Amino acid sequence: MLYGKKWFVCPNCGKKILIYDEIKGHSQGLYIKCKSCKKVIEIVVKRATEPRQK
Ligand SMILES: [Zn+2]
Repeated sequence: MLYGKKWFVCPNCGKKILIYDEIKGHSQGLYIKCKSCKKVIEIVVKRATEPRQK
C-alpha cells in the first residue's frame, strides 16, 4: 500500500522525479537536475501536519 507516498513531479515539465513520503518526508534546499527538461529544480516537500483534505 502506498499510503503517504507521493510523486514529486518536475514543476517545469511534469516528469516524475522522485517519491517522497507525504507524512514523514520534508525537504528544502535540495536540488536535482531533471533528466527530461535539463533544468535544475528545488525539491520542496513540506511536512504534513494533518491529513490533507480531499
Ligand atoms: Zn523537468
